[in-house]
Amino acid sequence: MSHFSIVAAALIACLPLARAHDDWGDRDRDRDRHAHPALRTPGTPPGIALPPLATPASAWDGKAFRGGVVSVSHPLAAQAGADVLARGGNAIDAAAAVQFMLNVVEPQFSGIGGGGFMMIHLAADGRGRDRGGRTFALDGREKAPAAATPAMFQLSGTTPQALFGIASTSGISVGVPGTLALIDTALKRWGTIRLSEAIEPAIGVAQNGFRINRFLAANIAGDGGRTSLQPETAAVFRPNGVPLAEGDLLVQPDLARTLRAIARKGPKVFYEGEIAQAIVAAQQRSRAPVAAEGAGRMTLRDLKDYGVLVREPISVDYRGWRVASMSPPSSGALTVGQMLLMLERFPIGDAARGYGFGEAKTLHVMAEAMRLAFADRARWMGDADFVDVPERGLLNRHYVASRAQLIGESTRMATPAAGNPLPYDERHRGDKRSVALPDNSEEVRPSHTTHYSIVDRWGNVVSFTTTIESTWGTGIMVPGWGFLLNNELTDFNLAPAKDTTPGDPGANDVAPGKRPRSSMAPTIVFKGREPVLAYGSPGGSTIINSVLNVTLNLIDHGMSLQQAIDAPRLSVTSAAGTISCEGTEAFMRPKFSVATQDALRALGHLGLGTANGADACTAAIGSVQGVAIDLRSGRQYGGADLRREGTVIGLKPVRAD
Ligand code: GLU
Repeated sequence: MSHFSIVAAALIACLPLARAHDDWGDRDRDRDRHAHPALRTPGTPPGIALPPLATPASAWDGKAFRGGVVSVSHPLAAQAGADVLARGGNAIDAAAAVQFMLNVVEPQFSGIGGGGFMMIHLAADGRGRDRGGRTFALDGREKAPAAATPAMFQLSGTTPQALFGIASTSGISVGVPGTLALIDTALKRWGTIRLSEAIEPAIGVAQNGFRINRFLAANIAGDGGRTSLQPETAAVFRPNGVPLAEGDLLVQPDLARTLRAIARKGPKVFYEGEIAQAIVAAQQRSRAPVAAEGAGRMTLRDLKDYGVLVREPISVDYRGWRVASMSPPSSGALTVGQMLLMLERFPIGDAARGYGFGEAKTLHVMAEAMRLAFADRARWMGDADFVDVPERGLLNRHYVASRAQLIGESTRMATPAAGNPLPYDERHRGDKRSVALPDNSEEVRPSHTTHYSIVDRWGNVVSFTTTIESTWGTGIMVPGWGFLLNNELTDFNLAPAKDTTPGDPGANDVAPGKRPRSSMAPTIVFKGREPVLAYGSPGGSTIINSVLNVTLNLIDHGMSLQQAIDAPRLSVTSAAGTISCEGTEAFMRPKFSVATQDALRALGHLGLGTANGADACTAAIGSVQGVAIDLRSGRQYGGADLRREGTVIGLKPVRAD
């Protein structure tokens, strides 16, 4: 082992220490006093960093670093990123190497057949073409092909219940992939290494193989059939019909060949050359009983025309911190932002007033804010290049206050309708369109996708959520090329919503060239202009709630980054929805007690507690990888998620004081 060492947990001093520099008022300075008793160190004066909770992974420590930190859900991918940093590369270079390695070692979650959103913050003294101190939101989201139509998912011969399963494993759901173009764009604009250098380590592991971890093994065993649907996919993950198990060697020569071709010829071979032709052919597959109707509509032209967009992130100020995340076509920043602004009126973190971590009042207002924000998300959010998303109205403080007023302290509200942010959005002033019907949609899907975070020695930060949508995407592997195609287009409304109720803009209806609404929320938190935290999560629409949980844990509950990641999460993903909550794993502490669940049930919440005292918090929600920077000392920290094989690798460890 060279000069870097692996840790998988960190005490972050950054929040409490950074706070010493500002004047938030007494409540915030006293926050440690209000932290949940399990998180408080007896005798620790307010304002002093809390030590990490004991976790089951005793090898974890709270190491600090100066040479950069990589936090990724798989150790081999984390290593690939750290190697780049160790050779003098920056966070963008490392992010590129991590993505190619993830394509090899976590093929079920992300890769060149998919898309993603990357937040990049350039350090103030960053070098290169762009002025430092700026934050960019890279949009490498998949696009609908030019031949897409709003009703294309109305496949005959299938029931509404079966539609998602059929559509999401047929070519019709394959969006024009953006991940490779995103990485190439990021490297060309902000990186210092060539694309071929970023790919190199992944080629070796694809060619020579690696040992399957328990998470990949579980995803193969519990694939819902996806790895058996297509012969190429089955041949890789179920050779001779036997699912690969933990510890088995996974060798992917076709994928190695693809990566070699891209390294040699550049992204053009993927978007215009022989790989493009193979993608177009592969996405013509569809599942019985829909046959030709389920074939994909992507053409070579669609691939050639694919373009990465550099967007402005959206941020909200929450108790003195600026929380910046992904703008449309993701609903991430807008929905997390609405929730934070609604919750700011409650004294979250103040245990003396019943708002400590995991207490009924805290969980109640979180759930209600989620329900309200998801109602707005369902109606108003989509690809802003195609529909007018009232971004300013949705985050207008008066509008959000009018929504937050619907939260009662003593009872769960009736299912809320979407609000009407248009009068609060200057581009829509005077628009009196009424908005009425409640959102009953619920999009809970199993955990897929992945998020990683990187900070380099100069302070450049990358927060990247990357996906092929469902675990295993469509299950279609491009024959001869060894990578999976996404099913991202099922993130669109499967049935057109426009004008189904008065004024419904159909914000997320399919249209040619449009990007489906995402929930991905790669996040960077700033104090003033300085980044102090980066994190994000997979998990479909629960992503938004994982990011919210972690944000509250850090800012309101005074947890270290690792504590904030470990703690059990709570999620509701629609206005009518029921609560899902975690608590089964030993590291998910402090638990949401059954008494608390019963208290929530008494308020009218659904999905929690039972009459016989059983613990209903058994969900698995997200996988958060984060980095943190202590502004005072410049020290860097990482936190990673035991819900997968989360790994933090730091360079230039700082000696413990
Ligand atoms: N298709 C999802 C989205 O963009 C990917 C994230 C996930 O499902 O984990 O919201």
